[in-house]
Amino acid sequence: MRGAWTKPSCPLKRVGLVLGRMNESHDFAADLAYLNDQRAPMTDRLRAWCAINSGSGNLAGLTLMHGALREAFGELGEVVETLPATPHKIVTSEGELVEQPVGDMLRLVKRPQAPVRVLFSGHMDTVFAADHPFQNEKFLDNDTLNAPGAADMKGGLLVMLYALKTIEQSSLAERIGYEVLINADEEIGSHGSAAQLTAAASHAQFACVYEPALADGTLAGARKGSGNFAAVFDGKSAHAGREHHLGRNAIVAAAEFAAGISALTGGRDQLTVNVARIDGGGPNNVVPDLGIVRFNVRVEQPEDTDWFLGKVQTLISSIDEREGFAAKLTGGFTRPPKPMTPKLLAFFNALKTAGADLGLEIDWKPTGGCCDGNNIAAAGIPVIDTLGVRGANIHSADEYACLDSLVERAKLSALLLLKIAAGDLPNPGALDLTETF
Ligand SMILES: [Zn+2]
Repeated sequence: MRGAWTKPSCPLKRVGLVLGRMNESHDFAADLAYLNDQRAPMTDRLRAWCAINSGSGNLAGLTLMHGALREAFGELGEVVETLPATPHKIVTSEGELVEQPVGDMLRLVKRPQAPVRVLFSGHMDTVFAADHPFQNEKFLDNDTLNAPGAADMKGGLLVMLYALKTIEQSSLAERIGYEVLINADEEIGSHGSAAQLTAAASHAQFACVYEPALADGTLAGARKGSGNFAAVFDGKSAHAGREHHLGRNAIVAAAEFAAGISALTGGRDQLTVNVARIDGGGPNNVVPDLGIVRFNVRVEQPEDTDWFLGKVQTLISSIDEREGFAAKLTGGFTRPPKPMTPKLLAFFNALKTAGADLGLEIDWKPTGGCCDGNNIAAAGIPVIDTLGVRGANIHSADEYACLDSLVERAKLSALLLLKIAAGDLPNPGALDLTETF
């Protein structure tokens, strides 16, 4: 998940209500009491996990992180499985399509036949490679830890784990079945884990994902969809002086294409195209025979993906048909748009009720960013994907997590699930909303 820089602070929004109303069906406060003294062990674990570099491309670091998670999630009393991910296909700067291995996934399935069935999803990789300068932690104050992955999303994985530990100690646990799926390629698009995420979503009624909330606790509601592409243009090289007329300039073709797709921005409401990079070319005295345009597209509506692909294909074909040129498009939309559906709204309202019981004001707003929540939503179940810690400045060396949110957010997830299990809140995946249309 992406975010812009903000000044480090944890300005939590609170409301006045607290848990413990007289007419509740179950003593939720007693279940949540387990978390009251868990801040220190959660913080210790967070610091240990952040000290492990788990950049998406650092397979050795991901193996270490996988081991730490296996040990921690093993505390839930179930077999923790390791699932291999499919290698990513990437276009090199030479225009070759090659496979890039990614880290293994971790999975745990508990009580799959229970009446409430939930997918808990997160990622163990970070955007910080093994040679990135940001490797060490720093306490900005007692409540604020600046460390790689503290918010995105090692803190979130801890929130998930401790919420589940709380549930396991409740008499309501038998009513809650879940699958935990933690991948290692989210920050590079989840191509290698997408099929497993979709399969897991098909077994669940709804999903909880642990990307960070904003520092004030605001969650992400609707999300745009995202596509990443590389368009490869082959031309013909020639001496720039003696035989310029025999050359077919692939960089000029790539530049023409880049301008064409950039102009599609705004062609549909909220659609944006970012031309990120052009590779290819060489010495000044050679007509270049290779140009590669890499670009990202964001769309708000599912039908906009087809509109965009049609336009891009037209641009590709117009160059491919020229004598001496070849053009092809690779990549695709890997994060479908996640609109605010009636079921998702019902899910958010259930969370808002659980939050109010804890004195938390739960708000949400749409974002152009995307994450595995997009893919899970496309599989047909409602998903809230910012149930992790409060934090900010993710994907930068200023990333921080609000440490007081570790227990706070674990309580929020645990209470949400316990109340759904008790029937005090509606199960958002089992709602029949057809009559509201
Ligand atoms: Zn993330």
